[in-house]
Amino acid sequence: MSIADIFNTKKPVVSFEIFPPKKNGVLVNADETIKSLKKLNPDYISVTFGAGGNSVNAMTWEIARSIRENFKIEPIVHLTCLSHSKEDIDEILEKLKKYGLYNILALRGDENPNAAAKEDFRHANELISYIKSRGDFSVSAACYPEGHSESPNLVQDTIYLKKKVDAGANHLISQLFFDNNFFYSFLDRARNAGINVPIDAGIMPLTSKKQIERMVMLCGASLPAKFKKVLDKYEDKPDALLDAGIAYALDQVIDLITQGVDGIHLYTMNNPIIAERIYNGFSSLIDL
Ligand code: FAD
Repeated sequence: MSIADIFNTKKPVVSFEIFPPKKNGVLVNADETIKSLKKLNPDYISVTFGAGGNSVNAMTWEIARSIRENFKIEPIVHLTCLSHSKEDIDEILEKLKKYGLYNILALRGDENPNAAAKEDFRHANELISYIKSRGDFSVSAACYPEGHSESPNLVQDTIYLKKKVDAGANHLISQLFFDNNFFYSFLDRARNAGINVPIDAGIMPLTSKKQIERMVMLCGASLPAKFKKVLDKYEDKPDALLDAGIAYALDQVIDLITQGVDGIHLYTMNNPIIAERIYNGFSSLIDL
């Protein structure tokens, strides 16, 4: 089923993101994680596409294939384009077709020192058009409630987002955010610009000091004063920080569902126990 079609059948849609896991530095399958997440009955699971080279990327497709074939859950495969030529993308799309993987999150990706940028695709909208011309794929795209870090301003950011939808993206997943007001303002801008596809709110529970520092550095999301206070008080008390991070994410999700969000996309960090604790806190609000 196309991901966008799922939004015609229920609200909110609940989904998870996982990444290809490693054990002792070696890539392994994600079956244990998926098995645990399946108990939470997700509408789809997305699998990230690494900046770490071919073996990681191949693992993305293997994991997505397992999600579909072994666990009977709809997967979305992430696919970045900056370091790929059209021929590379053709090869990947053929592989995805062979595996029955027709839902793709089309991304530009970030500059990667280990993989030189190629000239064929400069932005995600170009990849989206290309994928649409190559088969019956359902394409999702990324959006940024606080604006993408390279965008000159929020107006321009919205104009570029509209290009992705006009190119064929029929569903959007948002970057993580910690203040729901950023998401609501973003929704107003998007809807006013004629972007009418379903939009998932991306939520990441911040549960360790190291993870918080990494995330804020990577995506530039603002940390609200309320959260900073929690961090200052519990940064050296891992159990307390875990509880507070889960409670904070749950508070965000309950507010989003109450306000009628299309979908919740939980960045699980491959930790089904945290996902389960959050899910259990809001599951009674779904399908009311
Ligand atoms: P684009 O849409 O191309 O936007 C990039 C920048 O260019 C923005 O500032 C935008 O405003 C501007 N822009 C867009 N279109 C144009 C245009 N036509 N002309 C000029 N400027 C333009 N990264 C990974 O490596 N692997 C992953 O699996 C992954 N998954 C992600 C999942 C989600 C939900 C999100 C939100 C991000 C993910 N990323 C991932 C990170 C993503 O690759 C980076 O945020 C990247 O910098 C931008 O990707 P994009 O597809 O949004 O790019």
